[in-house]
Amino acid sequence: MGKQTYKIVKSKVTEGLKDMESRKGRFRAFDAIRPAMLKMVPNYPELSNRLRQIKEYSMDHLDEVIAKAQRSLEEKGCKVYLADTAEDAQNYIASLIPKEGLVVKSKSNAGKEINISHYLEDRGVTVVETDLGDRINQLAKCEASHSLAPAIHLSIEKITQLFSEEEGIQLECTPEALVVSARKGLRDFLVKADVGISGANAIAADTGSIFVTENEGNIRAVSMMPKVHIVIAGVEKIVSTLEDAMQVVRAAAVYGVGQDIGTYVSVISGVSESLDPDLDEDTHGQGPKEVHIVLLKNGRQEAIEAGFQESLYCINCGSCLNFCPVYAEVGSKYGYKYLGGRGLVFAAFHGDLEKTEENGLSLCIGCQKCQTACPVQMATPNMLWKLRQDAVAQKGVGWKKNLIFSMLSKPQTLPVVNKLATTFGKLALKESDKGMTSRLTLNSFGLPQERVIPRFSGKSFTEIAKPKPLAKPVKKVGFYPGCVVNYTETDLGEALLHVLAENNVEVKLANEDVCCGIPSIVSGDLDHAKTMALKNIAAYSSLEMDALVFVCPSCAVAFKEEYPKLFAEDSPELQKKVRNLALKVKDINEFLSQDIRLKPPEHRVAETVTYHDPCHLARSMGVKKEPREIIQKIPGVNYVEMQDADMCCGFGGSFSLSFYELSQRINEGKLKDVADTQATTLATSCPGCMVHFRDGIAQHAMKQKVSHVVQILSRAYGRR
Ligand code: SF4
Ligand code: SF4
Repeated sequence: MGKQTYKIVKSKVTEGLKDMESRKGRFRAFDAIRPAMLKMVPNYPELSNRLRQIKEYSMDHLDEVIAKAQRSLEEKGCKVYLADTAEDAQNYIASLIPKEGLVVKSKSNAGKEINISHYLEDRGVTVVETDLGDRINQLAKCEASHSLAPAIHLSIEKITQLFSEEEGIQLECTPEALVVSARKGLRDFLVKADVGISGANAIAADTGSIFVTENEGNIRAVSMMPKVHIVIAGVEKIVSTLEDAMQVVRAAAVYGVGQDIGTYVSVISGVSESLDPDLDEDTHGQGPKEVHIVLLKNGRQEAIEAGFQESLYCINCGSCLNFCPVYAEVGSKYGYKYLGGRGLVFAAFHGDLEKTEENGLSLCIGCQKCQTACPVQMATPNMLWKLRQDAVAQKGVGWKKNLIFSMLSKPQTLPVVNKLATTFGKLALKESDKGMTSRLTLNSFGLPQERVIPRFSGKSFTEIAKPKPLAKPVKKVGFYPGCVVNYTETDLGEALLHVLAENNVEVKLANEDVCCGIPSIVSGDLDHAKTMALKNIAAYSSLEMDALVFVCPSCAVAFKEEYPKLFAEDSPELQKKVRNLALKVKDINEFLSQDIRLKPPEHRVAETVTYHDPCHLARSMGVKKEPREIIQKIPGVNYVEMQDADMCCGFGGSFSLSFYELSQRINEGKLKDVADTQATTLATSCPGCMVHFRDGIAQHAMKQKVSHVVQILSRAYGRR
């Protein structure tokens, strides 16, 4: 990302962070939707996999399902227009609307994609949004800030003012009064409108049926009352059968708002007609005489060809937004046309990487919350990594990162940097009442003066560590310490050696390892990542061991998931070596719980402890219950579960350097949840999270101790 692009993103982030009114609204929506969704999803255990199969099939047979849907729709008297581009779609739609006509419109993501409201208004057409939130935004002249609650960023006072101005009388500032006013106003428009425009949740190719689901009833009115109904839908909305379409609307309700089904589900199969035998064949019923379906291609084929087919599985339920920590803090500043990470993937449809970057490609922390909340399990973070690779391939990784990754690739460099930083760091760093902070303001390096940074250790963990060979060990393990343990959190490495020795497990360290490469991988710089990976593979493959253990889940994920991907096209020998090593990877919690019989800890640790799930450990590795079980085995510990324990802490490695304020804001939310538990110790299983929490705790003058699970266990084995 160039300097200019970084400036644009940074200023959007600052703007987003400042807008506390919008933030309040977003969290109001999250507080209502998240618990309802989490409660409803387990009632439909098959839904997500079934939906993914449905969408996979449609996208694998796109031309076939388009042709079938077109045939079925036309047989039912609908007119189908296949639009290659946004301009195509705009022109066709405009040709259906009388000059200075009146259009009533309901929420339509595809309509937003082609900017249809503004396009028609510029040509003298009056467009009235009928979704309550969209209508509010239209009056306020602002954009939607949430896909299902588009006006959530506006206060009730502001909405009262808007509606009062529209009606010409002062309205009461209550939701009821506003709804009555909106209904009254909209009814007049609906009665007089020439054309109704809606989107579609799904289109069944076999019956030519258009499915729309909603809670307000306005879409039903838009599709029924005017004489012409235009449906705008991306081609990815087509599914094979009526039953498949029903799964889509079910999932939209279950995942989007935590309802078992939307209040209204309309299934439109053709133009309105009357079956009254006394009327002639052409006599229509109460609905529209014409139904037009505009099927939008607009870059979708290019997306498939570029390897982003999965992005077309999206059903626009908005669930990913409800769990994305970045969207939660900066709102509509993150995304392009479609909000959040998936919006950035959308920008790539048009081959415009610049837009993707300007709208927040570098903001995704990779926490994967969007993926686990998504009914089609869309791998948004992976697609964003791929886009970052494309960006690096086009423009390079930038001099700062290039320098850092080169240093991280060489086993000789970091020990020297560590020694220099320890010796000369005193000139640049100082002990403040918060902890170690910088004397200089280095904002462009993510080091503002107040940031508490970890102390360099002088001697690295690998220099200090003296693991002993054991006579009859129950297991032999390799240990990859990673950069944070090696150069700052050396105590964590020593705690691990102590815990494993107590359990009669022999530990081996490699002679020469380097950074795991995750910082390069998430930055899209695969060349440096491969260099690092090859060194680590050589260093650890030669160890005779039952498992390779990690205290940092991000490093573990590098060895387990990323290295096999990096060398997927290489020689079969190398691939085999990488796979064999990946099979040995174990997070330390996993190893202690599953691979050995854990020695019961005897020493009391009289602390109230709560646990934070690191993203990579909880979601990539699926390790959640093991650390909790270990903590609860420790005598004296009072364990308290915190709210949203698996939400990201906001660290994200270089993310927290590039966007320190945002990473701190995300952390602030976590710390509130920690404080609510009254815990004296915040436990986690990732040294990166620990560093970030310590900083946050110092910034907010909190008192909690931050420890890795292994450090608490080590204390319970008597280490002080
Ligand atoms: S991975 Fe996390 S930060 Fe990135 S888009 Fe998904 S939820 Fe948001
Ligand atoms: S990416 Fe998934 S969760 Fe997000 S809107 Fe699309 S279907 Fe819903």
